[in-house]
Amino acid sequence: MARIFCIANQKGGVGKTTTTVNLAAGLAQIGKRVLVVDLDPQGNATMGSGVDKRALELSIYDVLLENTSIAEARQAGTKAGYDVLGANRDLAGAEVELVALERRDKRLKGALRAVDADYDFVLIDCPPSLSLLTLNGLCSAHGVVVPMQCEYFALEGLSDLVNTIKQVHANLNPDLEIIGLLRVMFDPRITLQQQVSEQLKAHFGDKVFNTVIPRNVRLAEAPSYGLPGVVFDPASKGAVAFVEFAKEMSTRLGASAAAVA
Ligand code: ADP
Ligand code: MG
Repeated sequence: MARIFCIANQKGGVGKTTTTVNLAAGLAQIGKRVLVVDLDPQGNATMGSGVDKRALELSIYDVLLENTSIAEARQAGTKAGYDVLGANRDLAGAEVELVALERRDKRLKGALRAVDADYDFVLIDCPPSLSLLTLNGLCSAHGVVVPMQCEYFALEGLSDLVNTIKQVHANLNPDLEIIGLLRVMFDPRITLQQQVSEQLKAHFGDKVFNTVIPRNVRLAEAPSYGLPGVVFDPASKGAVAFVEFAKEMSTRLGASAAAVA
């Protein structure tokens, strides 16, 4: 059975897409079968995985409107080491079209069921909003990974996301939980970042992942080569941190599965 996770934070530019593609590549490297679902009309996770969003014949848009299946629409075996269900600007229209349809928040969940046996992990890259698209992600997932920068307003923005996750948990998807908060673009030389990092740990305890992703220019350069940093420059500090994070995720989930059993 696939474990399904949303990478979500309603702020833009906080590192969601970078986390999605590099966690996917890190998990692939440790032998996991991974599908990345791009739920953002900007299609950055698609391009950053080496799939040309402009050339997509079928995309997540067609899946959400139930014109096709994920098995038909996915790009199998990218250079990055995982499969991709791509997105492009068509997806921006889906929001409006979905509103009038039944089961509008459960479309992705239904579609993922059919490929459940093909993957160990499904990672959903969410758009920077708490929209119907994000809701489709949250209704499909077992958990949410929240990348965040350790900046002054970081905690404030978090409460909206935490409330949304609580509401989805209570009303739509009882499986949903926050798996953890991931500190990204971290620069230990900046005192404020250290302070916010400490506050996060004080507030959220072991919900804060041990792994910290440093600010590293190789992670920012990689998308222009159509590769995750983990594949583009495996020796870079950012890549090493993401492989470490993939192992931490994998271990953490193994431990929680054992606790349930
Ligand atoms: P989001 O998906 O939340 O909008 P992105 O993952 O696209 O955020 O990241 C925003 C920008 O920051 C991108 O240009 C990305 O390359 C860059 N970036 C993300 N993580 C890092 C990092 N750890 N070090 C340096 N640059 C980063
Ligand atoms: Mg993004």
